[in-house]
Amino acid sequence: MRTETAPIVRLEDYRPTDFLIDTVALDVILDPTATMVRAELSLRRNPDGRADAPLVLQGDELTLHSIALDGTPLATELYLADPQGLTIRGPLPASFNLTVETVVNPSANTKLMGLYRSGGNYCTQCEADGFRRITYFLDRPDVLSVYTTRLEAERDDAPLLLANGNLVESGDIPGGSRHYAVWHDPHPKPAYLFALVGGTLDTVAEDFVTASGRKVEIAIHVEAGKRDRAAYALDALKRSMRWDETAFGREYDLDVFNVVAVSDFNMGAMENKGLNIFNDKYVLASSDTATDADYAGIETVIAHEYFHNWTGNRITCRDWFQLCLKEGLTVFRDQEFSSDERSRPVKRIADVRTLRTQQFAEDSGPLSHPVRPRTYREINNFYTATVYEKGAEIVRMLRGLIGAPAFRRGMDLYFERFDGTAATIEDFLSCFAEASGQDLAHFAQWYEQAGTPVVTASGEYEAASGTYRLTLRQSTPPTPGQPIKKPMVIPIALGLVGVSGEALPMVTTNEASVDEDGLFVLDTDAATITFTGLPEQPVPSLLRGFSAPVRLEATLSDDELLVLFRHDSDPFNQWQAGQTLATRHIRAMMRGERVGATFGEGLGHFLDRYATNDPAFAAQVLALPSEADIAREIGRDINPTAIHEARLAVKRALGAELAPRLKALHAALRSADAYSPDAASAGRRSLRNTALDLLAGGAPAEGETLAAAQFDQADNMTERFGALAVLALIPGQAREEALAAFASRYRDNPLVLDKWFALQAGIPEEAILDRIAELARHPAFSMGNPNRVRSLYGSFAMTNATQFNRDDGRGYDLIADTVLALDPRNPQIAARLLTAFRTWRILEPVRRGKAEAALRRVAATQGLSPDVSDIAGRSLD
Ligand code: ZN
Repeated sequence: MRTETAPIVRLEDYRPTDFLIDTVALDVILDPTATMVRAELSLRRNPDGRADAPLVLQGDELTLHSIALDGTPLATELYLADPQGLTIRGPLPASFNLTVETVVNPSANTKLMGLYRSGGNYCTQCEADGFRRITYFLDRPDVLSVYTTRLEAERDDAPLLLANGNLVESGDIPGGSRHYAVWHDPHPKPAYLFALVGGTLDTVAEDFVTASGRKVEIAIHVEAGKRDRAAYALDALKRSMRWDETAFGREYDLDVFNVVAVSDFNMGAMENKGLNIFNDKYVLASSDTATDADYAGIETVIAHEYFHNWTGNRITCRDWFQLCLKEGLTVFRDQEFSSDERSRPVKRIADVRTLRTQQFAEDSGPLSHPVRPRTYREINNFYTATVYEKGAEIVRMLRGLIGAPAFRRGMDLYFERFDGTAATIEDFLSCFAEASGQDLAHFAQWYEQAGTPVVTASGEYEAASGTYRLTLRQSTPPTPGQPIKKPMVIPIALGLVGVSGEALPMVTTNEASVDEDGLFVLDTDAATITFTGLPEQPVPSLLRGFSAPVRLEATLSDDELLVLFRHDSDPFNQWQAGQTLATRHIRAMMRGERVGATFGEGLGHFLDRYATNDPAFAAQVLALPSEADIAREIGRDINPTAIHEARLAVKRALGAELAPRLKALHAALRSADAYSPDAASAGRRSLRNTALDLLAGGAPAEGETLAAAQFDQADNMTERFGALAVLALIPGQAREEALAAFASRYRDNPLVLDKWFALQAGIPEEAILDRIAELARHPAFSMGNPNRVRSLYGSFAMTNATQFNRDDGRGYDLIADTVLALDPRNPQIAARLLTAFRTWRILEPVRRGKAEAALRRVAATQGLSPDVSDIAGRSLD
C-alpha cells in the first residue's frame, strides 16, 4: 500500500458542472451487509458547462450492479465504472434518465461516512462527500436536486423508516415480513444534505405551530431505552424554532422535522434537510447523567443544526471553499440564540475562551488557514475552529460595523435574493454592502488573510490640557503561504474609565473617529485618537465585548487593570482584566518573582459583590486562565511543566487566601430544590464547583473532605462530576474509590463513562500512561466509537499538557501510535487526533524535537489515508 496524497483543489479552478441533476429517485433495499441502492437520475446538460464533455460521476467504494440510460441497459463499451467513479462517454442526449444500481455494505463501513450501522440501526452521513459512497453522483454542493426516497426493510429489523422531506406513502409489502416508506423533499438540495434512517428507535414528538400557523410535527428519535433522556432536546428545538422566527423572520418549511440520535458519529451533528442526525451526546440528558455544560451543549447544537435549515440548506454553498458561509454564519446564529436564552456576557466569555483555546491555537501554528481557504487536499480537515468560530466572529464584526438594523436588512436581502441557490461569500457580503451603503471590500480581507492580528495600544495623558492620546497599531504574523500581511478592518469598542470607576467623556478632536457607542475602526497600520476635556488620567477599556478576534497588547499597570477589574461597565473587559492579572501572576511566578496580594484582594472584593447576584459571571472570573492560554501568551520555548507548576502555585496561593470566603460560598450555594438546567441554577452550581476547586488548591485536606461529601450527596451530575474532578487531582485512596464508584454506577451508560475516561486521561501525573493503557482495555472502551476515542486519547492529547508533552516523548508516541492504529478504520477521527500536534513549534527544543520525530514517523508510514497524510504534511511544513 502506498500513501495516497490527494491532489490539491483550488478555489480559482472552480467551474460549473457539465451536467445538472434535476430529480433523484432512490429506492433503497436495506440489508445489513448488502444494501441495494437503485438511483434514477434525471440529467441534462448544464447551459454553463462544456457542451461535449463526458458525464463523470464520483463514487467511493461502490459496486456497480446495473446501469441503464432512458430505460435501456448501457452497453459496456459506453461506460467505465470502478469503485471510485463512473464515466459515460460518447454522444449523450441533451437530457436523459440514468438508472444505476449499486450495492453497499453498511456493516463494513467503519469510516462512518455514507450508509452505516450504529446501535443496530441504519443511518447516513453525507457531508462533505459521503453521498458518493451510496451511489454514483455529481457529489458537490452546487448540484441541487429534488429527492424522492423509497426505503424498504424487514419490518422487525427496521420498523422506523425516515428520509428527507415529508412522508408520502408507507405500508406493508404483501405476502411477507417487509414494509416500505416513501419520502419526498420538495426543496432542491445538494447531495451532502441527503439522509436516511432505518431501525428501532424510541420517539418523543409534539406539534409545533409556526408563526404563520403551519402545523409541524417535530420528533426526536433515540436508541431503544433512551427515551427518558430526550425531553430537553425537544424543548431546545421548540425554542430554536420560535427564536428564528422572531430574531430572523425564518419559519420552518416542511410538515415534519425529525432528529435522530445515534451513538456512532464522527462530528457533533448534521443538518440534513428535515432529518437531522446527531451524535447522541448532543441529545441525551437527564439530571443524573448530564452536566449543566452538557445541557448547554445540547441547546447549542440543536439550535445550530436547526438554524442551518435556512443558513446552509435553503441557501447552500457553491463549493467547499465557501464552507464558512454556512458554518460561520450558523455558529453566529446559535451563539446569539444562547445569549438570548441565557446570560449574554457569560456566553460571550465562554465563546471567547473557546475561540482562544481552539482557534487562536490553530491560527498560530502550521495548520493556520484563512476562514475561506484557497486550496485544500482533504476537505474533511477544514471543519475547523477557524472556519466555524472565527467565521462567526467575522459575522459579529460585520454587525458591529454596520449596526444591528442594517445587519438585519442585509440578512433579509440575503434570504430573499439567494434562496434556493448555492452562494458565495461575495454574494453574502453584497447584501450587507447594499443594505448599509458601506463599501465592504476591505472588510472582506477577514476571509482571505489567516493569522491572529495583534493590536498594541499605548496612551499618553497630558494633565495640563486634559488631553489623552491613544495610539493603536496592528500587525498580523506570517502564516503558511502568507508571509506578508495587509492591515485589516478592526472594530475596536472602547471606553475611558476614571480611577474610581466613572465613565469619562469621550470627546475626540477628530469627530469621525469614535462613534457614540464608543466604536473606533482601525483599518490602517496605526492610528492615534486624541481625546480632550478629560478631568483625570483615564484607564482605557479596549476591545469591549471582544469586538474583534485579535490579540490585544495594552501597556496597563496592575493598578490600572484593577480599576477595570473592579469598575468596567463592560462585563467582558472586567473578566478580561482579571484574566490578564492572573496571567501576569503566573508568569511572574515562572520567573521566580514574588507576587503581591493585589489580585487576591481584588478577587475577594469581586466575590463579595457578584457571588450572590451573578454567580455564573463570578464563576468565570474565578476560573484561572488555562495552561494552553498561558502558553500562547508566552509564545515560544514552552515548557508545559513549568507553566503547570506556576499556575498551580498561584491557584494554591489564591485558594489559601480566599479559603474562608470559598468555604462559605460552597456551603451557601448548596441547593435544596430539585434540579433544573436553567441558566440561573446552572450559574450557582458552576460557582459552587469553581469555589470547591479553588479551595482544594489552597486547602487540599479540607477540599478533599468537602469534595468527597459533595460526591456522595449530589443529586445531579453537575455536582457529582464537579466533585469527582476535584478528587481526581488529589492522589490517593479517596480518589480511586470515587472513580470506581462512579464507573460502577454508570457502567451501562457509555456517554457518562466518556466523562470518566476524559477526566482520568487529563490527570497530570507521570503514571498516567499506565492508567490510559488500562482504560483502553476497559470493556466500555472501543476504538470503533469516536466518542470513546475522543474521551480517552483526545482528552489526553488536548487537555493533559504536561503528560502529552513529556520530555521523554512517550506522550507524543502514544498519540502517534493511536493515530496510526485508527487511520485504516476511521481516517477522519485519526486526522482530528493528530491535530493535537498543531502547536509543536512553540515548544522548548527537547520537546520540540520529540514531537517532530513522532510527526515524522506518522508522515513516513506507508498507506496513510489522505486525511492523516494531509495533517501530517502540513504540520511539518
Ligand atoms: Zn454547522
